[in-house]
Amino acid sequence: MLLSFHGAAQNVTGSCHLVECGGTRILIDCGLYQGGREMAEENRNNFGFDPASIDYLLLTHAHLDHCGRIPLLHRLGFRGTILTTAATRELARLVLLDSARIQEEEARYRNYKASKRRNQQPVEPLYDTLDALNCLDGFIDIAAFGQPHELGSGIRATFYEAGHILGSGCILLELSENGRQRRVLFSGDLGYDGRAILPDPAPPPRADVVVMESTYGDRLHKRLQPSVEELYRAINTTIDRNGNVLIPSFALERTQELLYYLREGIEQQRLPHHLPVYLDSPMAITATQIFRSHRECFDEETWEVITAGRDPFDLPGLHITRDTAESMALKHVHGAVIIAGSGMCTGGRIRHHLRHNLWREEASVVFVGYAAQGTLARRIINGEEVVRVLQDEVEVNAEIHTIGGFSAHADQKELLAWHARTGTPDLTVLVHGEPEAMHLLAGRLQGTSVETPSLHQSLAI
Ligand code: ZN
Repeated sequence: MLLSFHGAAQNVTGSCHLVECGGTRILIDCGLYQGGREMAEENRNNFGFDPASIDYLLLTHAHLDHCGRIPLLHRLGFRGTILTTAATRELARLVLLDSARIQEEEARYRNYKASKRRNQQPVEPLYDTLDALNCLDGFIDIAAFGQPHELGSGIRATFYEAGHILGSGCILLELSENGRQRRVLFSGDLGYDGRAILPDPAPPPRADVVVMESTYGDRLHKRLQPSVEELYRAINTTIDRNGNVLIPSFALERTQELLYYLREGIEQQRLPHHLPVYLDSPMAITATQIFRSHRECFDEETWEVITAGRDPFDLPGLHITRDTAESMALKHVHGAVIIAGSGMCTGGRIRHHLRHNLWREEASVVFVGYAAQGTLARRIINGEEVVRVLQDEVEVNAEIHTIGGFSAHADQKELLAWHARTGTPDLTVLVHGEPEAMHLLAGRLQGTSVETPSLHQSLAI
């Protein structure tokens, strides 16, 4: 039995792990590398295996860094079954079609630039919309969390709630080869207890080998409740002075969490009853609809909201602006909350709202997610006085808030607690983390040998 690591090896993107057992080849995730030109180029390198040789792909969740290379895998010959939850399948459809559109646009832009120079070879998109549509035919839903699926030749796969985003799962593989049995558990990305909308991560099953994410293996989170308080305070003070509150947000999970907390704030009379809130992201609007149709993924508190006859994501003053014209008209609003993508302000409609609001003293920008180095979000957070937004130099006079408590990942303490419940695995493999975070987490894991494989490394198990 062999485990190989073809992504998220000593970094946080491009998750892709290969399991070989008794002639069956199973991939766990097939994510896109993200973050800058260099990482994007890694997507064009060899997978490290033949895509046509893969029998199954088990998908932990619909984030792009876990599913974003599936259309490419299909383009290069993969025709196996993709097993995941129904919610992940639907979210992945949205994410992959959006990603294909971005790949096509990028290639068009680079070719346009290249056309001005001589001897430049045209660039092909990494994959296109047709590849995304084709790969979607391979998806099959699991029956339920906790229920084993036979993959043939003595291999069984079972998904467990991961509490990270809607539909996310950890995956246990029960392998058997020449009379030898091994239980291999993949954490996927792990959430933590007490988050809005999602149930707590399920207690993990006992395993011999654990492949675990380590994104925040070196730190502890801020608590969630003080972050919610901070959000309400930022909104109230900005609305009081008739300014707009801009919230750059990720379309999946973070936006729905925000709507959930805004609704709670209004119901508890901690926010104005008719607070105007504009949801100005077509992708987030569709994602919210997918959330609504997958109630089976909700936690008890969200179900209480539903059984009381309310919609967890609706507000009295919510405006959905799908059309570009409606979005453009928002430059005339005052005293409103505007939620738009992208989360790091590298694209999307948020840039237009920043151009119209950043220079206003009465406005504020609330960052609720991760902002990578070099992004517009990071430059604003770092306190730059003038930033370039859509070809314009804009002064930053608005009030800037960075609220750090809305993470979707378990922190060091939560990772250790989850790991402790897997029994005493003889091997723990750390993936999906920066070397520093992995190193610190590895030092805290006891009673197990720890590996931090490099890209394309294989381990016999
Ligand atoms: Zn994730």
